[in-house]
Amino acid sequence: MTQDLNQQNELKKTELCDSCAGIQRNWRRAPGHAELVQGDNRKEPRSHGQVTITRYVCARCGTQWEYENNKVNLHAGWSVVGQ
Ligand SMILES: [Zn+2]
Repeated sequence: MTQDLNQQNELKKTELCDSCAGIQRNWRRAPGHAELVQGDNRKEPRSHGQVTITRYVCARCGTQWEYENNKVNLHAGWSVVGQ
């Protein structure tokens, strides 16, 4: 199972443009890049309260990102949600 998951991650990785590939994922306050276009944001409940999650789309490779702004979770941040 972990083997398959790793292969999937590898495949996704190769479809990202250089700028997207350089984003540090799941790390609080990591910067995005200049070609990300900001989209909607929404609130989601977490154990300590609500957080804001903002969607971005890369204008270069079309990757969809979400950024979770969570003050108490150092490992919330950028994650890829689609292509
Ligand atoms: Zn990109």
